Amino acid sequence: MTYNINDMGYYGEFGGAYIPEMLYPNVEELRSRYIAILEEPSFQQEFGQLLKEYVGRPTPLYFAKRFSEKYNTKIYLKREDLCHTGAHKINNTIGQILMAKRLKKTRIIAETGAGQHGVATATVCALMGMECIVYMGAIDIRRQAPNVARMKMLGARVIPATSGSKTLKDATNEAIRDWINNPVDTHYIIGSVVGPHPYPDMVARFQSVISQEIKQQLLEKEGRETPNYVVACVGGGSNAAGAYYEYLDNTQVGLIAVEAAGKGIDTGESAATSVLGKIGIIHGSKTLLMQTSDGQITEPYSISAGLDYPGVGPMHAHLFASGRGEFISITDDEAMLAGRELSELEGIIPAIETSHALAIFKQRSFKKEDVVVVNLSGRGDKDLATYIDYFNLK
Ligand SMILES: *Cc1c(COP(=O)(O)O)cnc(C)c1O
Repeated sequence: MTYNINDMGYYGEFGGAYIPEMLYPNVEELRSRYIAILEEPSFQQEFGQLLKEYVGRPTPLYFAKRFSEKYNTKIYLKREDLCHTGAHKINNTIGQILMAKRLKKTRIIAETGAGQHGVATATVCALMGMECIVYMGAIDIRRQAPNVARMKMLGARVIPATSGSKTLKDATNEAIRDWINNPVDTHYIIGSVVGPHPYPDMVARFQSVISQEIKQQLLEKEGRETPNYVVACVGGGSNAAGAYYEYLDNTQVGLIAVEAAGKGIDTGESAATSVLGKIGIIHGSKTLLMQTSDGQITEPYSISAGLDYPGVGPMHAHLFASGRGEFISITDDEAMLAGRELSELEGIIPAIETSHALAIFKQRSFKKEDVVVVNLSGRGDKDLATYIDYFNLK
């Protein structure tokens, strides 16, 4: 029994590749080659070197003394906020650009909602001298001006998606259309553990460096590789997948997934997919997603742009359905207070996504001797305007 992916590309009943026939050759090329490429020593060598020298890995595993005292347990923070570009997303985009090079692709496309994945993609395209096209909803372009500027500064072309709700799912449709029209020279970099097989597995493998490092760092600090719990926020689920990866099949380690409740589960303005979602197909994968009774995807809401996604990846749907993962949802208000608390107690301003993970200590208690690792997925610089408005810090 494994909680990881099986040979058919499924986690339990979730996953697979539900794609239009026109997309089949692209996805099949990737599926048939990704494992062999990943396992090439030259790939491993180049990936490892870039993670070290460009991203700045290994990121520290920091014992948060004052935060631990406050909640009467041992809390370690895995500092993905210290990665180049400020979050874990770059681990995946570095991996995928190296994959694209080995597949002889010269052109990169991506879609982005909040712009964070677009920035991480534009960054690695600049690094490798590849053409970069980012699809983004016209409304999101207006809402996320700083990230649009970053992408342009990095040499990417940002193309607005003007159909439908003019947000992430429309940008995704545009990216898929582009890929169908450019099957030979283009690689599509997906930004989380979502999309058709093999994307969820490929992205989880690139992010698994997080838990590989946690094992080694805990061994040094605690004399054992396993914590009692690993905690991470879940949008699509990539930072959580990376932090859980090495522990998926070790049921001694509790896996805690934190979703955005938005204004509250029952308010109609939420992104808590495990509570509100049902089985359906999104982004080419069978998973849990928020939808109306006739199967239309509902518009999610969270104060944090990175958690504002109507589904979760298939790994997380399986962790939820099987009971292997413990799912907790946190409101906007709870997250904002936790973000401020970590700032004041530890001198670390977290991304609002991450603040959701930090907020669980008010809801759930741990034993004093428990070792709890929280994946600090990103830094709060990008969210300063939201913190300023919320706390009236002017
Ligand atoms: C994008 C993002 C997330 C959510 O994405 P996952 O794929 O669920 O990890 C979480 N935290 C930060 C800082 C992000 O930028």
